[in-house]
Amino acid sequence: MAHSHEVPSDLTRNQGLVLGALNHSEGPLSAYDILDKLRGDGLRAPLQVYRALDKLVERGLAHRLESLNAFVACADEHCHRKGLIAFAICEGCGKVDEFADAVIEERLGDWAKAKGFKVERTTMEIRGKCETCALAA
Ligand SMILES: [Zn+2]
Ligand SMILES: [Zn+2]
Repeated sequence: MAHSHEVPSDLTRNQGLVLGALNHSEGPLSAYDILDKLRGDGLRAPLQVYRALDKLVERGLAHRLESLNAFVACADEHCHRKGLIAFAICEGCGKVDEFADAVIEERLGDWAKAKGFKVERTTMEIRGKCETCALAA
């Protein structure tokens, strides 16, 4: 997955390892996929991975894809400032595209205001086929 994140220097060793694994992955990884990749680096317990993931997600450096129960590195270094994160998930090759859309965000904001709903976070997941997979079908 191409992106321009620099790994912040104040991460713990485990957080850095987990973020590195996500950065080098082509698609989303489950906590167990990450554990598998990092066994050689001394990570043994799922809890170590979950703790690191919690922090990374909290800081907006990684995101959890609810429908896959898997994680991706954030593809946009300013994303944690935005209210809405959207993911297009390809069911062919597993590629995930992260994007933001100001119009959708505004519409949801209007809805929330009208309902008095206090939004904590908004994650959209779109399932389908990426351009390459759609053309190959
Ligand atoms: Zn992001
Ligand atoms: Zn695809």
